[in-house]
Amino acid sequence: MYGRNGYDAYSQFLLLAAIVLVVASMLFSRLPAVALLLQMGEYAVLVYCVFRVLSRNVLKRQQENARYYERRQRFLRWARGLKDRWQQRKEYKFFRCPSCHALLRVPRGKGRLQLTCRKCGNRFERKT
Ligand SMILES: [Zn+2]
Repeated sequence: MYGRNGYDAYSQFLLLAAIVLVVASMLFSRLPAVALLLQMGEYAVLVYCVFRVLSRNVLKRQQENARYYERRQRFLRWARGLKDRWQQRKEYKFFRCPSCHALLRVPRGKGRLQLTCRKCGNRFERKT
């Protein structure tokens, strides 16, 4: 494996994605066209994974891996925000600012309120 990229986090993700596609193609075995499409996807992902592991262009593979980490972080942050909003849904109401799309959290049951966005200062009215 000297001079090769080896097995990194992105390759690990690709392998997991291939396994998910295998399971999905088994679930869709009654629909041959869908199963075939999923199997083709699974082979494509596996071939790409092996290509990445054996690649000698380590710099480019490391850049791909860094991009993968960034996207994963962004996804995890979004998922955490979703979870927090779900847990606080009974005490707070969440709104998006119409002008900058920032998320605003307002206590529930306060009637009609004039809200001011902390990010851009835009004022708008919402029922809480
Ligand atoms: Zn705003």
